[in-house]
Amino acid sequence: MKGIFPIEKFEHVATPFYYYDMELLRQTLRAINQETAKHEGFCVHYAVKANANPKLLKTIREAGLGADCVSGGEIEAAIRAGFPASKIVYAGVGKSDWEINLGLDNDIFCFNVESIPELEVINELAAAKDKVARIALRINPNVGAHTHANITTGLAENKFGIAMRDMETVIEQAAKMKNVRFVGLHFHIGSQILDMGDFEALCNRVNELQDQLESHRIIVENINVGGGLGIDYQHPNRVPIPDFKAYFDTYAKKLKLRNGQTLHFELGRAVVAQCGTLITRTLYIKEGATKKFCIVDAGMTDLIRPALYQAYHKIENITSEQPLQTYDVVGPICESSDVFAKQIDLNGTRRGDLIAIRSAGAYGEIMASQYNCRRLPVGYSSEDF
Ligand SMILES: *Cc1c(COP(=O)(O)O)cnc(C)c1O
Repeated sequence: MKGIFPIEKFEHVATPFYYYDMELLRQTLRAINQETAKHEGFCVHYAVKANANPKLLKTIREAGLGADCVSGGEIEAAIRAGFPASKIVYAGVGKSDWEINLGLDNDIFCFNVESIPELEVINELAAAKDKVARIALRINPNVGAHTHANITTGLAENKFGIAMRDMETVIEQAAKMKNVRFVGLHFHIGSQILDMGDFEALCNRVNELQDQLESHRIIVENINVGGGLGIDYQHPNRVPIPDFKAYFDTYAKKLKLRNGQTLHFELGRAVVAQCGTLITRTLYIKEGATKKFCIVDAGMTDLIRPALYQAYHKIENITSEQPLQTYDVVGPICESSDVFAKQIDLNGTRRGDLIAIRSAGAYGEIMASQYNCRRLPVGYSSEDF
């Protein structure tokens, strides 16, 4: 197992850093393309917010995926990485004017609109440019996902999307506006979802809404069901590639696509999480009153998921063969929540040992901060070594 990292090459690299296994990323992208090719009208966008490292973006673009952006900065990153504007979709509850203008200037495929005031602003800004913006309405489907409360987005109480009962009114309003064209419906129920029943519930809801619209002779060209497919944080070696077959088959079986409709997906975590590892060096082993602390040079500024969501990441000492011992693995930041794991077993660890924090490719490097005036972690691809 330790063989998956080029440890000798890591010896002289400053820690902490992210290491991306590009071969695994390519295999993951092939698995996605292989499954979607089986279903007509399936189209996958990569959710840039999971990781905007240019090396990853380029590889994902080369595999033919589109880009799902949630800010102007992400649209810029996607364009810089070579994603064609015709494959860029843009969602977000708070789009500022410059971000909307950026999308208009680049003729992106679609704005996923989250409110009536936003729709009005897009119409105005498009009019000023004498353009017609393609828009999809993000509908809040009030479907719960069995995942962490901070990463559910599809419940009525969440800030995202337009309420179902307002859907038709907003479609009517959009139809009256000269500078927007209504092209689809958008949904996204949450993240790290492993129960296909949750996606099935979304399919059922989409079917109901489509039936309702059809009774008013409204047929949309595009259905976008967002992302959210989870990964196996417990077993990154055993399950390095998510079960894309089960995921896409669920939609193929349960969602009633109309003739000629395109079904869009926006996968983030499932694409990049497993290919990334945070590599950090042990600074000190500190014997506390009741436990041993392994103090490493990475902190919550490099990977915030454990502190923010109590997320689990598998942690390994990749340079020790010593018998297992129990540690709390903690970072150097002045916050009690700066803990990567409590009471886990690692091979006996000493100062200088390299520690791998696995499955860190999604919502890792991109969420890094400079709190405590720390340097941002560098992201290396396996091809940099
Ligand atoms: C975050 C997000 C995604 C991607 O979610 P994952 O769980 O990483 O797949 C897709 N669409 C929208 C609108 C999002 O906000």
